[in-house]
Amino acid sequence: MEGNRIFSNRRIILATHNQGKIKEFQAALGLIGIEGIPVSAVSHAEDPEETGKTFEENAVLKAHYYALACGHPVLADDSGIIADALGNRPGIYSARYSGKHGDDAANNEKLIQELSSVPGDQRTGRYVCAVAVVWPDGKTITASGECPGIIRDFYQGHGGFGYDPLFFLPEYEKTMAELSIEQKNKISHRGKALRKLIKKLSVVK
Ligand code: IMP
Repeated sequence: MEGNRIFSNRRIILATHNQGKIKEFQAALGLIGIEGIPVSAVSHAEDPEETGKTFEENAVLKAHYYALACGHPVLADDSGIIADALGNRPGIYSARYSGKHGDDAANNEKLIQELSSVPGDQRTGRYVCAVAVVWPDGKTITASGECPGIIRDFYQGHGGFGYDPLFFLPEYEKTMAELSIEQKNKISHRGKALRKLIKKLSVVK
């Protein structure tokens, strides 16, 4: 069975160079005895362009690209933050919101600026994540998850990555950047998506 290949060698390639995501994937996969290997350890292929129009399209595109490059099942995600007051922005453009890909500090500042005239009770938003596993033969499984919160205009906490110091979770009275990796994985968009994916993987034929 194709799906069991992942579980038989207990390894999957993680198609990301984002250290924050790598840590979260490894922590979540580690709970079920799977080792997540960063793609940089097995391939020097250049990242594909994220040309999809949805989180899911981008996740599948990345996983598919690296599955062919590595000849191994690959797990990829595409994720981002959505501010309700800004329509679907930054959405799939979250990593390059300020113009420079992966510049967390500039992206955070831009989000603060864009929301500067939005009153506190309308600063709702959510993190969204789509995950995909693609095998070299093209078999594909996807799942997605969301995590609601409030986007604040000041920083708090030093954990996590990206928009986490701005992303406040009223239930916990903390920002995402104040949670441990384990706590974050329990409630995060990525953790939720991954748990759904793992359920699907266990029944795949
Ligand atoms: P991707 O690598 O194209 O999926 O871009 C994801 C971008 O969305 C990151 O660079 C962050 O800016 C943002 N993002 C996604 N997930 C998180 C998270 O868990 N915390 C903070 N920012 C996130």
